[in-house]
Amino acid sequence: LNYQTARFLISAPTLAKCPADDGAEVAFAGRSNAGKSSAINTLTRQNALARISKTPGRTQLINFFSLGDNLDRRLVDLPGYGYAKVPESVKLEWQRHLSDYLQRRASLKGLVLVMDVRHPLSEFDQTMLGWADAQEMPVHILLTKADKLKRGPAASALQQVRSRLREWEDLVSIQLFSSLKGQGIEELEARLDAWLLG
Ligand code: GDP
Repeated sequence: LNYQTARFLISAPTLAKCPADDGAEVAFAGRSNAGKSSAINTLTRQNALARISKTPGRTQLINFFSLGDNLDRRLVDLPGYGYAKVPESVKLEWQRHLSDYLQRRASLKGLVLVMDVRHPLSEFDQTMLGWADAQEMPVHILLTKADKLKRGPAASALQQVRSRLREWEDLVSIQLFSSLKGQGIEELEARLDAWLLG
């Protein structure tokens, strides 16, 4: 698939407002500041694509991007949690919409979970992995900002995450990534192609 053809499609506040649940889509999640927007921009070679999801009012929405003219292959940017100063009741609302989406969306083929290579497997990440496990949803972990570590430490961070997730190895794949250096794009594309075309 040509990920450079990604175009913003729609933002949805709830599962009911999402585009038709046919074809195939892949969702990106990550704790805020992990590097998710940068990873989406790097994949699609568009500097501002995922910025759409960060504009005020959109941070709580499920953001859809179509690939090519056909609307049946999509990337989805899920809202991040973390630094947003919103009341607890609002956070619980997001969580409900997000878990609805994750549990009930038939066209969702896999989840890309973006983590800062220096701080992997946060509480947010473990919650997402637990959910994916319960749904038997495949997960591809991007350990991004790999350029912040030297080659040796980056490789050992990868090994550590792999060994901590060994019990889930049927469902989980893991790679190093750097938006700054463009490292790991081909590996990510191969995974997405397998999900979206498979
Ligand atoms: P998001 O909140 O997960 O969408 O995170 P962003 O993509 O906005 O990135 C958060 C911060 O990390 C920004 O200052 C980015 O410039 C920086 N960042 C993201 N990816 C990389 C990377 O691969 N390498 C480096 N060095 N910095 C990165």
